[in-house]
Amino acid sequence: MGEPGIRLSPKHGVNPAVPKCFYCQEDKNEVILAGRIGRDDLEAPHGAVWDYEPCDKCQELMEQGIILISVDEKKTDDERNPFRTGGWIVIKEEAFRRLPIKPQELVEDVCKKRMTFIPDEVWKLMGLPLSDYQKEQEKKDEDAAVDSGPTT
Ligand SMILES: [Zn+2]
Repeated sequence: MGEPGIRLSPKHGVNPAVPKCFYCQEDKNEVILAGRIGRDDLEAPHGAVWDYEPCDKCQELMEQGIILISVDEKKTDDERNPFRTGGWIVIKEEAFRRLPIKPQELVEDVCKKRMTFIPDEVWKLMGLPLSDYQKEQEKKDEDAAVDSGPTT
């Protein structure tokens, strides 16, 4: 008999929560039994990211290729969880290795982690398909450029 893995919460019992996948942000096919959280005996947050373990779907995609997720660095506060702009694709490792990315250690690191965040500017340079959010931002940028442009 092993030790019980969780400390029961007086208020919330096993305190179950369905975690979200860090990569695709969908609900994972699992339940976390959070037990007692902290002194205040908090209810386990729903729809939160608990760890960096991919969900089954992402796990499978990571075996086939590398997940690219577009981000806006200007709107990012937490580098480990950058502001996402909706672009999300999987490319084959061979294709990823053909991209003009330097240094080589970075490429190796990404190939090991099976995912990477790509800033919008680079995303567009690479000609990757744009999300609705990215298209909207692009339009806004154009409008802003027209507004602040020199008047002749
Ligand atoms: Zn996922």
